[in-house]
Amino acid sequence: MSSDQLPMLVDSHAHLDGKQFAEDLDATVKRATENGISHILTIGCDLQSSADSIKVAEQYDNIYAAVGVHPHDATEINSQALEKLRTMLSHPKVVALGEIGLDFYRDRSPRDVQRNAFRKQIRLAHEVNKPIVVHDRDAHTEVIDILREENASKTGGVLHCFSGDLNMAKQCLDLGFYLSFTGTITYPKNNAIREIIKQIPIDRMLIETDCPYLTPQKFRGKRNEPAYVRFTAEKMAEIKGLTIDDVARVTSRNCYDLFGFGTVDQDSKIAYQIRDSLYLNITNRCTNSCIFCAKFKDFVVKGHELQLDHEPSVDELKRVIGDPTKYDEIVFCGYGEPLLRLDLIIELSQWLKQQGIKVRINSDGQANLVHQQNVLPKLTGLVDAISISLNAHDAHTYHHLCRSTYGETQSYQAVKDFLKQATAHIPEVIATAVTYPGVDIEACKQIASELGVKFRSREYNEVG
Ligand code: SF4
Ligand SMILES: [Zn+2]
Ligand SMILES: [Zn+2]
Repeated sequence: MSSDQLPMLVDSHAHLDGKQFAEDLDATVKRATENGISHILTIGCDLQSSADSIKVAEQYDNIYAAVGVHPHDATEINSQALEKLRTMLSHPKVVALGEIGLDFYRDRSPRDVQRNAFRKQIRLAHEVNKPIVVHDRDAHTEVIDILREENASKTGGVLHCFSGDLNMAKQCLDLGFYLSFTGTITYPKNNAIREIIKQIPIDRMLIETDCPYLTPQKFRGKRNEPAYVRFTAEKMAEIKGLTIDDVARVTSRNCYDLFGFGTVDQDSKIAYQIRDSLYLNITNRCTNSCIFCAKFKDFVVKGHELQLDHEPSVDELKRVIGDPTKYDEIVFCGYGEPLLRLDLIIELSQWLKQQGIKVRINSDGQANLVHQQNVLPKLTGLVDAISISLNAHDAHTYHHLCRSTYGETQSYQAVKDFLKQATAHIPEVIATAVTYPGVDIEACKQIASELGVKFRSREYNEVG
């Protein structure tokens, strides 16, 4: 298989400077590229390996470096060493400070020295405004305490080879940190870490090898290398119920957001794939202005940047879709109300239906107010399923959450009417509600059943 068919992955933590790769670094990097690894971050552990990591990054366009002193070598940290790190941090290919932290498992440096070195390097990260790469082994509580006390959220960073529990994972996320996972998630006995991956959003995860260590199960016992980050990505996809393309896109995007290297796919704005569905983002305009709408924060859904610079035309959409038979279904959604573009939906759905494709719409249910007519008959035979955001158990709560331009008296009633009328024209009609504080989900379910439609609640932190 050639690398153009493979989803592009980033190995966000490798040690390529050491003697383990001295003999075959070129071949190792080549194998990584052949296996679809687009970028590698190579990490320093002490002053010498930091300097060597920069040399590696200078040799290859797609390799970047982090510099720092590992807790094992914490005794190396003094004012001169910090000065040297500061100089290295100004190198254009150095994107982070690390790895730094605490290791109370091996205790190779006295714990007080480790704490001091950790704090001093976090302060240096503040000065140079670069994220940190944190190593934590059997020192969970103290790592969190220090991150908090030193206000590490200011630069952010990643807990590499995360080994804490769910509570710690949540604390890291609250601090704005990413969590990174290695080949250890493929080890048969490591259910605990897989359970954590299940419970935290992928939008905050990275993947890494930590090579030459921590080789995935398939090659366990041999030297690890960047190409093997694929096994970690595959396992993550399996755990999260996503495809490896989803994992590749999201984790690469996360790397880009944290470290600033790599590329972000701009075409994904208009049509983006999650699992085997293709989502069409046809407008950012909306009749609502929901208080939980993620577009007010950053417009990114599962690694897709959805802020449109223009509304796509039918031809543009056809071009981006390509062969629609590749997908289980085509969904009109995105960050906006698709039925504002009723004519476009009709035209494109006719084209999709000719090819036997399933069509779904996610809507706020106010199209009849917008178009001042019942638009549903126009969708008959074109749309197979529609999800309509009911979102609340009464008009007052609805207006408080969704802030429709049609006001409290009109909007909620219109949504309910739309749900009911939709059943006459669309085979599958689903009312949805976000599990937002103040929303009575049971009452919403009851309303859906009275209207004769299905019901589904949505987690208000998981989009897509
Ligand atoms: S209806 Fe959807 S797109 Fe519109 S504001 Fe609400 S959450 Fe955002
Ligand atoms: Zn480490
Ligand atoms: Zn490491």
